[in-house]
Amino acid sequence: MSPVPSTDSDHFAQARALLIDEIKRELAETRVYLGAEPLDPRVLDAIVRVPREHFVPPDMREHAYRNSPLPIGNSQTISQPYIVAVMSHFLRLPPHGGRVYELGAGSGYQAAVLGAMGAEVYSVEIQPELAARAKALLAELGFERVHVRAGDGYLGWPEAAPFDAIIITAAGPEVPQPLVDQLKVGARIVMPLGSSGGDQSLVVLSKQPDGTLEQRELLPVRFVPITRDRVDA
Ligand code: SAH
Repeated sequence: MSPVPSTDSDHFAQARALLIDEIKRELAETRVYLGAEPLDPRVLDAIVRVPREHFVPPDMREHAYRNSPLPIGNSQTISQPYIVAVMSHFLRLPPHGGRVYELGAGSGYQAAVLGAMGAEVYSVEIQPELAARAKALLAELGFERVHVRAGDGYLGWPEAAPFDAIIITAAGPEVPQPLVDQLKVGARIVMPLGSSGGDQSLVVLSKQPDGTLEQRELLPVRFVPITRDRVDA
């Protein structure tokens, strides 16, 4: 499935192309952290096809293609496109796209990018308003294989497990054990590890046959924290 925006102005198409150039440049500049492995070709292809302007509030639309995080309401942010690219790449999705779990749907943008890469995505968002908005938008844009629900994403989505990859888009000091349990052996979790006020590292965790995680640190990052206090939906 390759959803294409129904109304797409040349203006945004051009901005999207410039954004791809910027992401490529930043990837090249950070190669010392990321390693020489070539970027999964599905990543930029997906970013080109997902209309980011729909995932930001109307007054932010003009800035939708800046390579920076943007506010999406409820004190939350849509991640920087470069970080979306890095995280999507390091998930190492199987050739058919696989089944991916996301903690922190936020605007739904990261989930849409993974959907455009061919994955079936299960994403949980703790803020009910954001979850409802992301769900409606993804349906409107035709992302039928991207599922969003409101709740505490720390607990995962057991009915859809096991997953081929897990992406956590909010920071925490530890890896949620329920998510490790819902990950296939050999598969990866990509997440910002660290406290909300302190240092955070984007890490890739690979599940070993004995259930332990092998950890590789990629980059210093800054994400909003994982919270556990909005389970009222
Ligand atoms: N992936 C998002 C950006 C996420 S920002 C995007 O593409 O727009 C981090 C999100 O994680 C916020 O929306 C926040 O509300 C959510 N979050 C924090 N703790 C959570 C939890 N325990 N379960 C689910 N979502 C959570």
